[in-house]
Amino acid sequence: MTAAPSPDPHLSFARRMDRSDGLAHLRRRFVGVTDAADGAAPEAVVAYLDGNSLGRPTIATGERLQRFVTEAWGGRLIRGWDEEWLDLPFAIGDALGSAALGAASGQTYIGDSTTVTIYKLARAAADAQLSRDPARTEIVVDTDNFPTDRYVLDGIAGERGMSIRWIVADTEAGVTPEQVAAVVGPQTALVVLSHVAYRSGFLADVPAITRIAHDAGALVLWDLCHSAGSVPTELDAWGVDLAVGCTYKYLNGGPGSPAFGYVRADLQEVLAQPIRGWLGSADAFEMGPEYVPAPGIRRFISGTPAIVGMLAMQDTIAMIADAGMEAVRAKSVALTEFAITLADDWLAPLGVTVASPRDAERRGGHVTLSHPAMREVTALLWQQDVIPDYRDPGGLRIGLSPLSTSFQETHAGLAAVRETLRGVLREQAGLA
Ligand SMILES: *Cc1c(COP(=O)(O)O)cnc(C)c1O
Repeated sequence: MTAAPSPDPHLSFARRMDRSDGLAHLRRRFVGVTDAADGAAPEAVVAYLDGNSLGRPTIATGERLQRFVTEAWGGRLIRGWDEEWLDLPFAIGDALGSAALGAASGQTYIGDSTTVTIYKLARAAADAQLSRDPARTEIVVDTDNFPTDRYVLDGIAGERGMSIRWIVADTEAGVTPEQVAAVVGPQTALVVLSHVAYRSGFLADVPAITRIAHDAGALVLWDLCHSAGSVPTELDAWGVDLAVGCTYKYLNGGPGSPAFGYVRADLQEVLAQPIRGWLGSADAFEMGPEYVPAPGIRRFISGTPAIVGMLAMQDTIAMIADAGMEAVRAKSVALTEFAITLADDWLAPLGVTVASPRDAERRGGHVTLSHPAMREVTALLWQQDVIPDYRDPGGLRIGLSPLSTSFQETHAGLAAVRETLRGVLREQAGLA
């Protein structure tokens, strides 16, 4: 007789958490998610742990896209612009601002890619600061910010004869208010930081850092790519000047869906964005000889908006509006806590360290687990339909999208990490 396998307390915990999760029903609204426990077909993917890079599509989005082709685009044709599309970037922006960003209407729009939106808003802010005070020649950014942010800002500094003031960030943590206080002063034009660090998941103290920057006379641009739809913000209440964020990550907008930009109401008339296009001008259809910026948030638009690209995000924004960001964040924290518990219990004995903050207050929606073998482990996991991603040095990123990820999925994913890493280490020991 063989002994019954000892029950896994982590699996019982995951089942309990899924049963009591107030957002669990939303998971079934995503394409490809059918839990085996429901008696349905097992999931095609064992564990999707990369919703922070590319969120899953919702079933509603499939229907929305189909309807758009037949009814809106196919039926209304060019009339669609006047009837709906010209205002869609601002209608969706307002819905997003209200559901997830803490932004009153008229300040958020869906525009270009994140990269281009960072350029437009940062360049506008830098120009406004320089014309107010030519001594404000520094842009503050951290060494571990996402490459696009660093490259764009470096380019703006070159164009405008400015310089970058680098904050050296801890790659397992992030930028602190003290570090910002140490570098800002009468020479600072703009501070650009990420709310959630893409590598470590560190959650920056936006209100404290914004206050410090403002006290020094600087403007702030927050990159919300890894927080929008996962960690709530209060952009208006925190006095944030500018923000930008991806919509294809936690907002499930689909590959390459355009980014959102936020410009505080009282800054809109002060800022001139550098890509002067006809649809951001005061009267686009007058087709006048000169560019006169439109009043309000419309001036941050350049050319024809990517309407098809901004359809899908509406389904997630609606879900968030229903669920409330507080509930979304609570589940996100519970998921990351659970992943850390599993990492400590299962992976630490194999030499894995947690390269993310342990304090939930300072952690966003993903957890990074470090081990020199993680690049190889990630490739092997993808072959088994377990999908996290990898970021140097040795970081396995576990992204836990609160609307679409379950506790049992997290359990299955981390169990696969354990088995795969064991296999790799066994093979290495054999070869040694
Ligand atoms: C994902 C991400 C981007 C991506 O920019 P794209 O223009 O959409 O490629 C930029 N910044 C941060 C912090 C990100 O996490």
